[in-house]
Amino acid sequence: MSDQEKQEWSEDLKDYVDEWNELPKFMTRGGPGDHEFELSLLDGKVDSSQWFQDQLNPENSYNYNPEVLDKGTIGQQAKDQEIFFCDIPFNQLYVEMDGSYAACCFGAKADGRNGLPKHTVKDTTLQHWMEESTYMNEIRAEMLDPNSKFETTKKTCKRCISDEKRYGRSRRTACMKIHTNEPDYWKMIEQSAQMFKATGQYVMEHRMIEVQLKVYGDECNLDCYMCMHDNSSIRQKVANEGVWNDSIFGNSAWKRDQDIDVQYFQPDEQDIKDGISVKAKIPLSKNASSHFTNGNITGNNVESMIEQTLSMSKYIRSIKIIGGEPLIMKKHYELLQRLIDKDEAKHIIIKYQTNLTETKAGKHNIFNYIPHFKLVCMVASVDGVGKTIEYMRRRTDWKKVIKNTEYCRRYDNVNVDFNGLVSFLSVMRFYEVIDFCLDNPIIDQINWALLEMPIHLRVNNLPEKIKKDLLPKYAAWPDIQAALSLPNDPGIDMQEVFDYMLDADKYYKGTKWEMNLFEVFPELEEFYIPKHKRKLQVVEATEKVYTNQGERELIDMLTLVEPTEKY
Ligand code: SF4
Repeated sequence: MSDQEKQEWSEDLKDYVDEWNELPKFMTRGGPGDHEFELSLLDGKVDSSQWFQDQLNPENSYNYNPEVLDKGTIGQQAKDQEIFFCDIPFNQLYVEMDGSYAACCFGAKADGRNGLPKHTVKDTTLQHWMEESTYMNEIRAEMLDPNSKFETTKKTCKRCISDEKRYGRSRRTACMKIHTNEPDYWKMIEQSAQMFKATGQYVMEHRMIEVQLKVYGDECNLDCYMCMHDNSSIRQKVANEGVWNDSIFGNSAWKRDQDIDVQYFQPDEQDIKDGISVKAKIPLSKNASSHFTNGNITGNNVESMIEQTLSMSKYIRSIKIIGGEPLIMKKHYELLQRLIDKDEAKHIIIKYQTNLTETKAGKHNIFNYIPHFKLVCMVASVDGVGKTIEYMRRRTDWKKVIKNTEYCRRYDNVNVDFNGLVSFLSVMRFYEVIDFCLDNPIIDQINWALLEMPIHLRVNNLPEKIKKDLLPKYAAWPDIQAALSLPNDPGIDMQEVFDYMLDADKYYKGTKWEMNLFEVFPELEEFYIPKHKRKLQVVEATEKVYTNQGERELIDMLTLVEPTEKY
């Protein structure tokens, strides 16, 4: 970018600065807006001042809609928080990787557990799920009832309820902030919700549905340190080859132990070609992903999903393709082609949750499909810059991400957003992403979510000193400050995180992805206790019992802590 362009950009920015938080609006559409928040309706209120903002501006004649907040509209009740309303159950169709339905990617799965019914793509059609399922209809009813006890919503939407309590914002508040400021879209949501309120029935009748199907597989080319293994074939492969920590990931759905077959490991050609050190591998599995029991990635399920999606295409506003890494998943290109052939593509927005490191898969090239669609939104997972992201999302080439971002920007019908996951490591540098975006206007907006699972990798489990030092860097980002202000979660041992990251460093030693935790995050090193010293600490503490009875209680607690490894 030339100096003159930078100057023009900074002039342009002045028009877009949101006085409330002094960040450009493009960076905050779904972001802060919850500055002096209270708690959610289940305990209090969130800040809804940014909802329906454009519609309230009489000078903006295009957007102004005097009826949108009339007394008794869903919009008015939601904004005034007479109801705990989320528009997602009215406009989103979500299927998990294992084929279970859920209200959305943050909603609890309809997997027959926790008092919820069981619905999977094997026994329930997409249309039945949206129109007939008790799961969806009960949430809708509760969200429209000012006197609801939220018996179902407390189970299905507990992540949002908990996030609103912890941080003052949630996926619900972000969606409401974005969708209430899209007047045409909101009008359809209002009508649909009103119809449901009057009849108790939900019927798809507007082009307002966002389809999010995670059924095209888990194929991925990156090894992101915080990613649950279900979501990435590379994560499964690396875990099966030794980079695994039971304390951190033991409760996740993907269970390494039950998937290991110690007899059959063969290093694959791809890795050798890419210069991976075979020596660094621990031969455990023939093919990690072949053991993964994904209910949908093969056979008729994908075919059936494509057919069902096509049959409801006139109600589809957008399709979000989630992986794995969607741009390398060949099967999804078939859906794109069939939407083009059916002449529906021009009405449909395609959204990708992508790492934007690759844009081709075999004979398919995303840039051949893009011109046919109404809009293509690339939501790139970016939560660090340069070496930081290359370390956290291992196998990333930052220069390639930028190159692909710039390439996407050549198309008038492509938006590129950055979407970061603020976690144990990324929070130490996430502000650099914000600075990068200010200096390089190559994206449309930036959003982020705070990592919830695995618990060890949450922001609040960093050392107190680091959290305190980071607080001023997030003055305009109150939810990140709120996360940094939380105490460590009980029973979480930070040394497990170090062990896990150092195992990954060892795994990648001698490869083109070799990097070291303490070189990328030197501020962490003083908190690392080598394994042999951890044992000594416990012994020293135990010996103190005999010299200082006053510390007995503390020592008793310490001696209960087993060293994490046998010596
Ligand atoms: S409240 Fe949260 S979990 Fe529930 S549907 Fe809305 S966004 Fe999803």
